[in-house]
Amino acid sequence: MKLYLVPTPIGNLDDITLRAIKILQSVDSILAEDTRTSGVLLRHLQISKPLHSYHIFNEHQTVQRLVNQMKEGKTLALISDAGTPGISDPGFLLVRECIKNDIIVECLPGPTAFVPALVNSGLPNDRFTFEGFLPHKKGRQTRLGELGAEERTMIFYESPHRLIKTLQQFAEVFGAERQASVSRELTKIFEENQRGPLSELIAYFAQKTIKGEIVICVQGREPVKGKAKRVYDNEVDDNEDAND
Ligand code: SAM
Repeated sequence: MKLYLVPTPIGNLDDITLRAIKILQSVDSILAEDTRTSGVLLRHLQISKPLHSYHIFNEHQTVQRLVNQMKEGKTLALISDAGTPGISDPGFLLVRECIKNDIIVECLPGPTAFVPALVNSGLPNDRFTFEGFLPHKKGRQTRLGELGAEERTMIFYESPHRLIKTLQQFAEVFGAERQASVSRELTKIFEENQRGPLSELIAYFAQKTIKGEIVICVQGREPVKGKAKRVYDNEVDDNEDAND
């Protein structure tokens, strides 16, 4: 009676942990966002298990049935097309229902796109906010307006055809000189990490045909005077702990 959330590679198929393989081999069945995509991975791993579809269009209807299966003693694994289930992917509803029903939930550590993007960005990573996909229409400007005051590094998922427009909107809200990074095709053959002010990133990508999967990181705004300094400013007070 357990739910495992099992991260899968975001590109490079070698990025699956030994434990992820063991868990996928041991469960009663696997829930997948897209059974065809996951079928390819499972065949590559030589794992043959009942595979059921679990995606945003059926999760509300299927959650209770899945919870019942686990209450009857079954152990299930949820995987998404890539990365960690529940991170900009289905999973949250099922996790919440399992917790309500005292079913053990265990998310394995593993691939997810935003961590390597943040670390590769070279931007401060002592504190950050994961924003996932911005709303496309309704609520987009409001969200961007709220982020204008954000001091932590912000992480966004974006599709290639919206990249330029989004970078331009960021330049309007955060200023064209704000430092940012665009990580494309992480862990894949054509991985690319571009870093610099938003103005330079816009100029660079405007000349290109943009393909693949993308994470954008944007530095937060400078802290307001008098507030705590950032750790990376190398001005950490020696007595910091004593003051806690
Ligand atoms: N669950 C995934 C995770 O843990 O990162 C995220 C799934 S979300 C539907 C897909 C988005 O993640 C893409 O549009 C892109 O923004 C980002 N992404 C996934 N794989 C990526 C990669 N290899 N390189 C860059 N971004 C990636």
